[in-house]
Amino acid sequence: MKDCVYLDNNATTQVDEEVLAAMLPYLTLYYGNPSSMHTFGRQVGLAVKTGREQVASLLGAEPSEIVFTSCGTEGDNAAIHAALLAQPNKRHIITSRVEHPAVLNLCKSLERKDYTVTYLSVDNQGQLDISEFEASLTKNTALVTLMYANNETGVIFPIEHIGQLSKKYGAIFHVDAVQAVGKIPLNMCKSSIDMLTLSGHKIHAPKGIGALYVRRGTRFHPLLIGGQQERGRRGGTENVPGIIALGKAAELAESHLMGSGEKELRDYLEQTILTTIPDTVLNGHAVQRLPNTSNIGFKFVEGEAILLSLNQHGIYASSGSACTSGSLEPSHVLRAMGVPHTLLHGSIRFSLSRFTTHDQIQKVLKVLPENIDRLRALSSWTSDDASLLVERKQTALTK
Ligand SMILES: *Cc1c(COP(=O)(O)O)cnc(C)c1O
Repeated sequence: MKDCVYLDNNATTQVDEEVLAAMLPYLTLYYGNPSSMHTFGRQVGLAVKTGREQVASLLGAEPSEIVFTSCGTEGDNAAIHAALLAQPNKRHIITSRVEHPAVLNLCKSLERKDYTVTYLSVDNQGQLDISEFEASLTKNTALVTLMYANNETGVIFPIEHIGQLSKKYGAIFHVDAVQAVGKIPLNMCKSSIDMLTLSGHKIHAPKGIGALYVRRGTRFHPLLIGGQQERGRRGGTENVPGIIALGKAAELAESHLMGSGEKELRDYLEQTILTTIPDTVLNGHAVQRLPNTSNIGFKFVEGEAILLSLNQHGIYASSGSACTSGSLEPSHVLRAMGVPHTLLHGSIRFSLSRFTTHDQIQKVLKVLPENIDRLRALSSWTSDDASLLVERKQTALTK
């Protein structure tokens, strides 16, 4: 793993050594239950309190507004569930076609429970049409749930504007900020967001811990009903080592937010690919985007073939979200953007972290062009071949 080039940080990140060091004692020495009355438990409770303060600080929130969860998926589910239960007479939800499956598939299941869902479209740069959004808002809209930044393209939605419009109609506004947290500054103090989801393993904490921000005064119904943990908002004994880790990761993210290293490296990688490899296109808006993400379409090559050839050199990227890769379906995000067939199957997402180095990017820039050349020569593709492949895949899918 030492020499590998990991450019799949939107799928998951490496645990920061400082984060690991902070959490380890809570797996060994300090195993008390934070709800216990005795000193052994209460000292753990104090550490959990610190973790909560660190997460709140990253978001510009109050510690009491933070609910720890097991992951981003749970945060999204808990927020949507709470918003709907708080307003049982409203039966309309607004989301978008490019959400993470944690939101998209939940919304699909709610359609079977008598909810109407509007799936907003995006343009070819991955951006929402605000007038379409405004037109879809009604007094019956219980919930607007949209992502801050897209995991596949990095495209950022105009969240505050959306929030203000939602407020006008009395809808609760939930934001899946799993990709935005730690990459762009957020401040809940001056925000129109009611609930916001984040996940530990996307910001250098381990898997299995996340948090949901719930603005004070927002009516909340727990998804996990049990003990009085998290002020009755999430039953179950706290994942103490996870919380300590997430707190530390949040503190480190806050101190790294100002750095522009990732963006410079990302821009260098992206610009070099786009200008030196022919028939390449950037997927997503060039500016309204996370500083760490680059999704590039390579015409006349198969994404999986590129990934495999990079993999042989210890370079790890992705051809879409980790949740959908492995399936033959092209990315729902790129499809919603109307990305043409010739690019749909040849798009690669590079996602950097603060651990990405210049040498690593140099290695990619050395390996990638010769491999694209080789793959293109091998297949000597035309767009006809591309559609043939699509057909073949569809046949494979129906089998
Ligand atoms: C990763 C991700 C999630 C899911 O988070 P988990 O902690 O893996 O459940 C949700 N939304 C977005 C945008 C993500 O990138």
